Amino acid sequence: MSNTLYITRTCVDCGKVMRNVYHTKVRCPECGHQHHLDMCAAYRERKRAERMLHPAPKPAPKPIPKKPVPAVPVTTLADDIRAADKLGISYGKYMLLKMQANKKACPCANTDKPKR
Ligand SMILES: [Zn+2]
Repeated sequence: MSNTLYITRTCVDCGKVMRNVYHTKVRCPECGHQHHLDMCAAYRERKRAERMLHPAPKPAPKPIPKKPVPAVPVTTLADDIRAADKLGISYGKYMLLKMQANKKACPCANTDKPKR
């Protein structure tokens, strides 16, 4: 590796002599930090001006999806337990009665059609 990459030069902002620095270094650490802050401020100002000239279009509001209406009334577990307690039977027996009440008659009952 060559030593020509490290040179002595002066800071472009304050004129401070920087010894044995990399050949691409143009500012001392203090001026480099200040230069970075200035560049960031200029960038923010430029972006702010761009946003004021060309504001981003607002996205269209999303339509609210309609909730599907359940075909059968939904009961919670607690509702079923309360109903079973009201009848004085266990939850299992209550659910069995409920299922039998909701069961549709088989269309093939009392016919010659084969059962499903
Ligand atoms: Zn400097």
